[in-house]
Amino acid sequence: MSFMRKAILTVAGSRPVTRFVTRYGLRLGAGRFVAGEDWDQAVGQVRTLNSRGIIATLDYLGESVSDRAMAEAARDVYLDLLGQVAASGVDANVSLKLTQMGLDIDPGFCHENVRAIVRQAAGLGSFVRIDMEDSPRTDATIDIFRRLRAELGNVGLVVQSYLYRTEKDVRDLADLRPNLRVCKGAYLEKPDVAFPRKADVDENFKRVVLLNLELGSKTCLATHDERIVNWARGVIRDKGISADRYEFQMLYGIRPQLQRQLASEGHPVRVYVPFGKQWYPYFTRRLAERPANVFFILSNLLRP
Ligand SMILES: Cc1cc2nc3c(=O)[nH]c(=O)nc-3n(C[C@H](O)[C@H](O)[C@H](O)COP(=O)(O)OP(=O)(O)OC[C@H]3O[C@@H](n4cnc5c(N)ncnc54)[C@H](O)[C@@H]3O)c2cc1C
Repeated sequence: MSFMRKAILTVAGSRPVTRFVTRYGLRLGAGRFVAGEDWDQAVGQVRTLNSRGIIATLDYLGESVSDRAMAEAARDVYLDLLGQVAASGVDANVSLKLTQMGLDIDPGFCHENVRAIVRQAAGLGSFVRIDMEDSPRTDATIDIFRRLRAELGNVGLVVQSYLYRTEKDVRDLADLRPNLRVCKGAYLEKPDVAFPRKADVDENFKRVVLLNLELGSKTCLATHDERIVNWARGVIRDKGISADRYEFQMLYGIRPQLQRQLASEGHPVRVYVPFGKQWYPYFTRRLAERPANVFFILSNLLRP
């Protein structure tokens, strides 16, 4: 983990910074990474993506919920969102975080909330992706995914290549034929659980992708790393991987040209479209990944 990344995540966690940025952030440039604060804005962005041959996954932003009523309210937003997606005709599924659904309150309660969403999605022919959060929550997240997947087919999980454990997790999950999104990982993790060197994270990303493909499960490559994208293009071509067995996935606002390029080559491309008022933690992770983004925000701040 780079010094800058650690510094940004630490400063962003302080109260005065949080207050200032949540007040002015969307105007300062957070809007580059967040599709808006409500459904009307988000669906407009999804329509634009769809018109370019790119599908989407919608994330109603929120995490670390410590109150049952808030978790239930978030669940209800997702139940409603699935209906709105279906009614609007856009090509999008949904992604969610378990701490938004009450994981830290009670895993059983969280499971029931997510189960309601996955069942609703199943009835509408849609799909729910469970995002992966920080490492103290990995076991509980996998456990809830296992229970849901044993009952319903339309749910997938995320794994993070920065964690040493991930290769084993993928092998252990193989019996479920899981639809996995492989990403590098966005949280502040210690070297006893995560590769400190970026080169090792990148190598492990490729290892995990190959493993999941060889195990016969759908594999979604969530990265903007052009070297990995080029490597994947070769693997897909050489191994003759059909378009129903993989997706390229990227974040809203990041490498849009590459997104379009891949779609124009005929690859399935899905963009993660976050929206809602609780955008601050998501936004700080995007800043920390790329310190240049902080300068982009600062230059907006200084602009007359
Ligand atoms: C669809 C999707 C879903 C994700 N879900 C999760 C999840 O559930 N859990 C989790 O921990 N993480 C998740 N992530 C985030 C992921 O773990 C990485 O933190 C993030 O994608 C940056 O890594 P990278 O693979 O793009 O590679 P990097 O090596 O970090 O970056 C490669 C290139 O991508 C571009 N880039 C990367 N990040 C940024 C940025 N913030 N701003 C501008 N340009 C950038 C730059 O051009 C950079 O050179 C997700 C990412 C994607 C794309």
